[in-house]
This record gives sequence, structure tokens and C-alpha cells, in this order.
Amino acid sequence: MKPTHIEHIGIAVNSIADAIPFYEKVLGLECYNIEEVADQKVKTAFFMVGQTKIELLESTDPEGPIGKFLEKRGEGIHHIAFAVENIEERLREAEAAGVRLIDAAPRRGAEGLSIAFLHPKSTLGVLTEFCEDKNRENK
Ligand code: ZN
Repeated sequence: MKPTHIEHIGIAVNSIADAIPFYEKVLGLECYNIEEVADQKVKTAFFMVGQTKIELLESTDPEGPIGKFLEKRGEGIHHIAFAVENIEERLREAEAAGVRLIDAAPRRGAEGLSIAFLHPKSTLGVLTEFCEDKNRENK
């Protein structure tokens, strides 16, 4: 089954506070949520563009995944997240197709979504995330 849309694009920034003016004043978007995901050692800020979100990622620990990314590559696009249905099944399909998984099973991401990452070595250098809003199914 195809992904339904691009759920969000994750962008690593040194500082969410410094990045927000570009998104709000220049692009005219509105930051509607700021949330820390302790598990991932990040603070996130969200903007809605149509059906797709921009997720700014600020590191809260230099040893965390975003801290390491910023040190190696600097600010920029960090990952692309596809909205999927039946995330567990999609992971099994990807694995069966030879894709290396970072997360063998979905875990809880920002905004209560079920998320799982595929390894960029298996996805042409683009860190790829599957993401499912399990709450939305019940609406
Ligand atoms: Zn993400």
C-alpha cells in the first residue's frame, strides 16, 4: 500500500528560537506546537503546510541523534516522513525488500504518532520515517 502523503519533513536547526522567525515572518506559517521528545533528545517545533508539517529539530544533548547530525553536517534537512497505514506491516514489507531498519518496531514520536525509521544506507542517503496516526483511525 502506498503512503498517503508526506506527513512531515524534519529539519535540524541549531536553535528553534532563531529559526522560527524565518518560518513565521518570511514564509508566513504559524508555529502551532513546541514539544520536547526526551527519548530522542530533541525539542521539536511544528508548522502546517497543507497536509504536510515542517518539523524543526533542536538538539537537547550533543550525544543525541540530532546533536550528532548537526556536528557532522550542520543545519539542514534531516529526514522525510511518509504517512502510512498499518505501520507494522509496512516495516515487515520494507525488511522483506532488503531495507535495513533502524526501528524494528514502531515507537511513540512527537504528537503521539507511531513512528519508525529506515536506515539511510538502504534508502539512497535519505533518512526515511514511516509514521502512523493511530488516533486518527478511530475518528
Ligand atoms: Zn520525524
